Amino acid sequence: CGIVGYTGDVPALDVLLEGLDRLEYRGYDSAGVTVQSGDRIATDRRAGKLNVLKKSLAQSPLPVGSTGIGHTRWATHGGPTDANAHPHLDDAGRVAVVHNGIIENFAQLRAEIAERGHTLRSETDTEVVAHLLGEAYTGDLAEAMRVVCRRLEGAFTLVAVHADAPDVVVGARRNSPLVVGRGEGENFLASDVAAFIAHTREAIELGQDQVVELRREGVTVTGFDGSPATVREYHVDWDASA
Ligand code: GLU
Repeated sequence: CGIVGYTGDVPALDVLLEGLDRLEYRGYDSAGVTVQSGDRIATDRRAGKLNVLKKSLAQSPLPVGSTGIGHTRWATHGGPTDANAHPHLDDAGRVAVVHNGIIENFAQLRAEIAERGHTLRSETDTEVVAHLLGEAYTGDLAEAMRVVCRRLEGAFTLVAVHADAPDVVVGARRNSPLVVGRGEGENFLASDVAAFIAHTREAIELGQDQVVELRREGVTVTGFDGSPATVREYHVDWDASA
């Protein structure tokens, strides 16, 4: 029920776990993270509270990287198991995606994916997005996200990283919230500003059917059709320290 993304100059895992902590009040049944480092991504995801994930990460640490994504799940399709926890990966394990919401045409997409020889490893509506992103990726993760989003129905906040796209995080939204936090040499994505308020109060609210590409130096927002988008920038001035 919460999403965070980060690219910047400090270890992403710390920022992601802190952000997920701040979204805990929303309730969830599983949690997971993917960190990108060099030309690799590494993922850990667990059913249960954040502490279960933290314990697992302490036992088998992920490689350190300054780009990553995190998720807390409120299961809608598939029970609260490790296999159904996000992030979800494509067959090659090169792309990782987290999702809040429901992909309504997932059954049709799962059948299509299976027919093309992909192996589905979870019962979620989300996993198809990872496979579709892997197929659509030809060097531009934001473009792959736009291509995939045009095929999706329902409500979704999606955030993804790709092993071959260093220091890039891509997000998309329809009928579900996604906010950018703008920092100095670092940028944040979250389903709720509470996740990054300790780092920056400069925010951009994404509009309906928009894709954002996050890099250390800046953010680019487009519509699902690739057209440049107008966004609302604002300063978060309420006290979110609680
Ligand atoms: N529908 C997805 C699932 O069941 C995402 C649920 C959520 O919003 O956390 O895995």
